Amino acid sequence: MKKLTIIGGGPAGYAAALYANNFDLEVTLVESDILGGTCLNRGCIPAKYWLHLAELNHEINNASDYGIQVETSEIDWNKSALKRQDIISGLVNGIGMLLKSKKVNVINGWGKIENEQSVLVKKEDGSEISIESDYILLATGSKPRELPSLQFDNEFIISSDSALNWEQPPKNVCIVGAGAIGCEFASALIDLGSNVTVVELEKEILPGLDKRTSGELRKQLTKRGVSFKMGTSIDSVADKEVLLSDGEKENFDTILVAIGRSPLTENIGLEDISVTTKNGYIDVNLETMQVIGTKNVFAAGDIISNSPQLAHVAFAEAMSAVTYIATGNPSPINYSAIPYVVYTNPELAEVGLNSDKAKLEEIDINQAQHSFAGIGRAMIQNQNQGLVKVYAQKDGPLVGASICGPSAGEMIHELMYMVGWEALPDEAAEFIHAHPTLSEAVGESLLSLNGKGLH
Ligand SMILES: Cc1cc2nc3c(=O)[nH]c(=O)nc-3n(C[C@H](O)[C@H](O)[C@H](O)COP(=O)(O)OP(=O)(O)OC[C@H]3O[C@@H](n4cnc5c(N)ncnc54)[C@H](O)[C@@H]3O)c2cc1C
Repeated sequence: MKKLTIIGGGPAGYAAALYANNFDLEVTLVESDILGGTCLNRGCIPAKYWLHLAELNHEINNASDYGIQVETSEIDWNKSALKRQDIISGLVNGIGMLLKSKKVNVINGWGKIENEQSVLVKKEDGSEISIESDYILLATGSKPRELPSLQFDNEFIISSDSALNWEQPPKNVCIVGAGAIGCEFASALIDLGSNVTVVELEKEILPGLDKRTSGELRKQLTKRGVSFKMGTSIDSVADKEVLLSDGEKENFDTILVAIGRSPLTENIGLEDISVTTKNGYIDVNLETMQVIGTKNVFAAGDIISNSPQLAHVAFAEAMSAVTYIATGNPSPINYSAIPYVVYTNPELAEVGLNSDKAKLEEIDINQAQHSFAGIGRAMIQNQNQGLVKVYAQKDGPLVGASICGPSAGEMIHELMYMVGWEALPDEAAEFIHAHPTLSEAVGESLLSLNGKGLH
């Protein structure tokens, strides 16, 4: 039986360990902290908990629209924090039990490559063990990126790691960065009663995503009270006073820096196998996930170059690496049809190309859009703002879609299949969407793409 050692027990590492059970592989997983990595402990799950709490609060405070009279909501922050921790613990324990049931040898400690077939593990008590194996998979993930002028002090200038651990959010928050993490915090905090200012260097939020749908999200968050300072940065911070590049001065309780994440590739022994990194990222062959310049070392998840830092991508890359290790056959993932979801209220979801990306790739496209304004189900839910946009190559298949609206993160998946399977617009438009559903907006946008819009 071949042996595989995995360093890191986040989505990439634990998915690889679980998936290896489908093959003839003996697996050791080394994790220095808590199983589940960023995703379960300080990323996807706690962030979505805060967003759900905020949405619930917003719904309750707006129930009078439907004739339901409720006193203003009051949150028991301690109880809410306990529920959040309960969900996280349940998931972390579940991963531990799954790994046990699949006979994965889990070791707690810091893993470091000694050579292509050996990993040295330093345990918390200072003892060390060497694990020999045929293959190594690196899945050490990432950490919040710092700005040299705004270094984390975990009190006033903080990262998402600290913010997700708040029992109660602060009253006045400045968020630096309007990427997915910054926007999700803005959406949650505004619906939980904080004053929120977002400072972003670019002209539009969610750089890289469709400008029309991102603009719609910005408009809706602005309406609810978020103050966006676009094309702006922080010049200086003195005590709790922040000087912005537009000359304005404001006082905040907290500055939350959300400008992206840096790969964790230091002190894991890359120099011992002569692997160099680019800005900390590891280059891999995306067909096999093999680290360039090595034979037996693979990598997956947030640490690799040219791949989005997303949990579901980490899962897929891990499975791709394990398949190649076990069978010798490449099983590459389809990077052109990866769904990307921003879990704000309303959600924004995208797959494949948008007009800017198509322009960059010099692909001529046709596009169509349909608004949620007249979608009955969206009106019932009081969420009939937003739109669906679809893109097809001129005389060719669907190549992308972007949605800003209720449940966009669920709806994007039907468009993911269409883009992944390269459906032609007239084939895609043949399918009937149930009435009344939010997905009717997708059906209508596909009809419009064929020049045969109904409503
Ligand atoms: C606030 C926030 C919200 C997010 N929301 C989403 C979302 O909604 N959807 C989504 O898809 N993605 C989301 N992400 C991103 C997602 O969390 C990451 O893409 C994902 O966790 C990456 O998985 P990974 O296994 O590569 O790394 P990680 O999850 O970072 O796991 C790496 C693990 O390796 C361990 N480790 C590191 N070095 C060593 C070592 N030398 N020895 C032993 N162990 C080591 C670490 O302790 C960690 O447990 C979010 C991230 C943040 C911060």
